[in-house]
Amino acid sequence: MATLTKTASQKKTPATPANLKQYIGGKWVEGAAERVVVSTNPADTREVLAKFKSADKAQALAAIEAAKKAFPGWRATTAPARGRILAKAAQICRERRDELATLMTREQGKILPEAKGEMDKGITLMEWFAGEGMRLGGVSMPSELSKNLLYTVRQPLGVVSVITPWNFPFAIPVWKLSPALVAGNAVVFKPASLVPAMAVKIVEIFAEAGLPPGVLNLILGAGSLIGDTLVEHPAIRAVSFTGSNSVGKRVHTICGTRGVKATCEMGGKNPGVVWEDADLSLALGGIMKGAFGSTGQRCTATSRLILHEKIADKFLKMVVDETKKIKVGNGLDPATGMGPAVDDGQLQTDLDYIEIAKKEGAKLVLGGKRLTDGELAHGYFVEPTIFDNVKPSSRLFKEEVFGPVLAVTRVKTFDEMIELANDCEFGLTCAFYGQDLTNVMNFVDRIEAGMVHVNSPTIGGEAQVPFGGVKGSGVGDREMSKEGLHFFTELKTVFLDYTGERRESNLY
Ligand code: NAD
Repeated sequence: MATLTKTASQKKTPATPANLKQYIGGKWVEGAAERVVVSTNPADTREVLAKFKSADKAQALAAIEAAKKAFPGWRATTAPARGRILAKAAQICRERRDELATLMTREQGKILPEAKGEMDKGITLMEWFAGEGMRLGGVSMPSELSKNLLYTVRQPLGVVSVITPWNFPFAIPVWKLSPALVAGNAVVFKPASLVPAMAVKIVEIFAEAGLPPGVLNLILGAGSLIGDTLVEHPAIRAVSFTGSNSVGKRVHTICGTRGVKATCEMGGKNPGVVWEDADLSLALGGIMKGAFGSTGQRCTATSRLILHEKIADKFLKMVVDETKKIKVGNGLDPATGMGPAVDDGQLQTDLDYIEIAKKEGAKLVLGGKRLTDGELAHGYFVEPTIFDNVKPSSRLFKEEVFGPVLAVTRVKTFDEMIELANDCEFGLTCAFYGQDLTNVMNFVDRIEAGMVHVNSPTIGGEAQVPFGGVKGSGVGDREMSKEGLHFFTELKTVFLDYTGERRESNLY
């Protein structure tokens, strides 16, 4: 059984919870809807962090109008100058990294080292995209005609919407906002309502770095209330969305009907495979990080563990023993290894899937319960949970839980493993632990996933390479890297004839 943190004695309610506002056209304004959203610490709900009044539809429209107005000036600003503002924002984030990481732990629940890691990842992405301001060019090509210059330029789209989830409150917003802005677009940014305080900080920092009013607007409020406006409005030329499969598909359908770009990064049910010749202690570290890091609330979490039958008993025992060492508690406590679920809804989802798995006949090996001992009673804590003998036809094998629930299945052959790993509507990421090069290369070749990790965990990404999934995990261009930047641009091809005289040619 996982041990509990009983010593979390963090402060309860801060003097005054922040009163968060909308940011429209460079001004902070109170939300106009009746609905008040209260943001509490998921590790201790007595701590109220912030409150805000939701934006209404009229404010979403006003944000789009403000972005439309600001767009021509921002488009006319050179790409290197735009990149310098982004670099300045990255520098401010670097200076305030620890303070922002602490806010992240209090608002979202992930443990402080993970929050610091997320800050570092996000800042690196900002820096990388800032540099792209110097490289935002097209290409030139030799023409079939003499004295004819053929080249391409990349231009901004106009006003774009950036819609983000709650699980990476800093990194996901900045990996979308950075390319959108450096490419010259004006943005309406709508974060998840569970993490509004971090979103406000991000926008404040961009303003402090010198972003002109109206170029970045913040709309706080329920997706069900204002989401459609940010996707359907004729001025919105692209939507960059990360979140659940159901909302992502809807966003993509609307954008497709409108004929505008959408990139939708969605859920995952990522397999971690440990083969008979794997270095088991290496695999152990990766599987533990993937399954229980960030309380399993990562799109890239390892949620299915597929084991070669020859090492299955031994490796599963290693995983169980290691999981028993995880201290569950408040992420600000240095002894804590796993924080809470983000809210009561996610906690209930975790517990529901545990019950479903039991009913489906999977064998509960570890965990399975909500934790309410002592201080934990004030938060949304669940035990890290492991099920063995999970049938490939079962819901636990196929559906995203988004919590610390690991589904273990055993296989005999390589083909059987590939078939099982691919037997899922998602295809974000995966991991293969093994030494035989033929197996490794066949896995890389045949697995249906946007990202493949060999002898490393399913999690993570780097600024300079594409991030994203296939099948139900992603539709539209990849994020991060040049691909992520190019999503926010239109490509224009130029035919520049400098003969200065009438040309006879049959190329037309
Ligand atoms: P969600 O779909 O509930 O919400 C995501 C965002 O969409 C929020 O800002 C929400 O307010 C907004 N939204 C809701 N309804 C909308 C509508 N009708 N129109 C427009 N916007 C709307 O997702 P979540 O619960 O915040 O995040 C968890 C999900 O995100 C998981 O499925 C996870 O796998 C996924 N995720 C994917 C990636 C990836 O890169 N593939 C990364 C992180 C999270």
